[in-house]
Amino acid sequence: MIRPLLTAACMLAAAPAVAQTSVDAARDPAKTEVWKPVPALVATPVNAAPSDAIVLFNGKDVSAWESEQGGPVRWTVADGALTVVPGSKGIRTRQRFCDIQLHVEWRSPTETKGFDGQNRGNSGIFLQELYELQVLDSYNNPTYANGQAGSMYKQAIPLVNASRAPGQWQAYDIIWKAPRFSQGGGLVSPARITVLHNGVLVQDDTVVSGKTEYIGAPSYAPHACAPLYLQEHDSKVSYRNIWVREL
Ligand code: MG
Repeated sequence: MIRPLLTAACMLAAAPAVAQTSVDAARDPAKTEVWKPVPALVATPVNAAPSDAIVLFNGKDVSAWESEQGGPVRWTVADGALTVVPGSKGIRTRQRFCDIQLHVEWRSPTETKGFDGQNRGNSGIFLQELYELQVLDSYNNPTYANGQAGSMYKQAIPLVNASRAPGQWQAYDIIWKAPRFSQGGGLVSPARITVLHNGVLVQDDTVVSGKTEYIGAPSYAPHACAPLYLQEHDSKVSYRNIWVREL
């Protein structure tokens, strides 16, 4: 009679131990730790491009750019800034891009007298040469909301107006997802854009309706990766510290 009693006692003792083990496993934080892949190390110096970025303008060197007409850039480089020369046409990168993170700093001219609305500090950053993120002096300068600074021109009004006064440097930080097209040229997915203007969210994963149009509705036509393009719009807008990371 003693042996069965001992066995029963052992079983009673063992049962809670098994249950406790499974409870402990479920609560083990290591079960949900993922160790690979290890993210690549990127150095992020203050006021400089991250170590894995392609520097497009460092304050002196414009060799990453060419005139939209081909040949050398005809904008001026002085005091660490690249400044539009009215009438000299836009410029584009020699390299082509698709999905990117882009940092651009820009400055509107201080001379505002006689320049209003779209004529005050107008330039633009064209993603893939076709889709314009507007650059404009929108500090006390009313214009149509889908054409002010931070707008996807004639398509998407910025969430807020984060503009600084003319003469002050401003920044755009942009995440661009290029449109996708099928082999037959049909649109598989539209472009999307997120923009921080001076650190403030102004475009939040905005769906882009097609290439920028001054008149009429936007639409898509198939294309490949393409240069970044900076617009010359008769305003002496300056640029500096331009870098891009391919995504
Ligand atoms: Mg423009």
